[in-house]
Amino acid sequence: MDNWENYVRKVVPYVPGEQPEQASVIKLNTNENPYPPAPGVLRALETFETDKLRLYPEPTCKVLVEAIAEYYGLSAEKVFVGVGSDDVLAMIFMTFFNSAKPICFPDITYSFYDVWADMLRIPYEVKSLDESFLIKKEDYYGENGGVIFPNPNAPTGALMDLTEIEDIVVHNRDVIVVVDEAYIDFGGVSALPLIEKYDNLLVVQTFSKSRSMAGMRIGFAMGNEKLIRYINDVKYSFNSYTLNQTSLALGVEAIRDRAYFESTRRRIIDTREWTKKELLVLGFSFCDSKSNFIFATHRLVPAKQIFEALRNENIYVRYFSKERIKNYLRISIGTQAEMETLIDFLRQYLAD
Ligand code: PMP
Repeated sequence: MDNWENYVRKVVPYVPGEQPEQASVIKLNTNENPYPPAPGVLRALETFETDKLRLYPEPTCKVLVEAIAEYYGLSAEKVFVGVGSDDVLAMIFMTFFNSAKPICFPDITYSFYDVWADMLRIPYEVKSLDESFLIKKEDYYGENGGVIFPNPNAPTGALMDLTEIEDIVVHNRDVIVVVDEAYIDFGGVSALPLIEKYDNLLVVQTFSKSRSMAGMRIGFAMGNEKLIRYINDVKYSFNSYTLNQTSLALGVEAIRDRAYFESTRRRIIDTREWTKKELLVLGFSFCDSKSNFIFATHRLVPAKQIFEALRNENIYVRYFSKERIKNYLRISIGTQAEMETLIDFLRQYLAD
């Protein structure tokens, strides 16, 4: 009997954005940073001693944990690092979302949350965003097995005030609240100071967006020492060597260069604000994004049609076929020149 099929852990996987092979495309589909990593990253790569690769990496990721802790003025015991924030979030789901009660997250949000929940057999309940695509904090006040949401939310880009986040944390003292701050550096205020006040709060960030290191896969969580210890226990029960030697060495350089970080994120914010104005003129509407993307719908032309027309021009944006958002495009912010090309094309296309 071929019964093994019955015992497969069947999952519907997360679908990442496309990574086209041609170099000539304008890639605005996965919220990457259009600027290169900090100059120190290149220097560290050039001087990296390949002989070190014989050895396993240092399992506590100490150098990087300490560099992140120093950057944010925390003790190292309050920082956990992983292979991108996806890895960090997956560890958090495994560690803390272990109740019979459902965890809660928005209906329109990062589409990995329901995948992890399904895979780990964690019950969940989605809470609808309001008509303006904003999170209603009161939806998260009831009994639950934990709460997670991005701030700014993805793919809407909408930012929640810190006071509202604090309200959610205060109403959920018996469970863990995770604020996924993948995009916080593009104009939001981080919930990080609240970790000193609330022992049930975890703030998760990444090097993939504001630090131009998506290809290196570095993410981190910040919270009180006890929470971090629990995540580490799960990590060491799953895969003890997470970050590789190069990620550790290059990550340290990326976090140390404050001036470069400030200048590139400023450029992205300025280009985003310019793009918003142009999109409005062309008949698009969108949430007031505080992230490195804009989630836009056009008053006349269906999103799918625009998505395909852009693709024919080798301009990649992200389209989700999900019911409530199927008339929207998520457009990552590229360089100013890339966004000008996008706008020029849209101006012509929409005039025809
Ligand atoms: N959270 C959100 C809201 C995201 O959009 C992403 C990017 N796909 C991630 C987490 C994961 O990013 P990474 O694993 O590259 O840190």
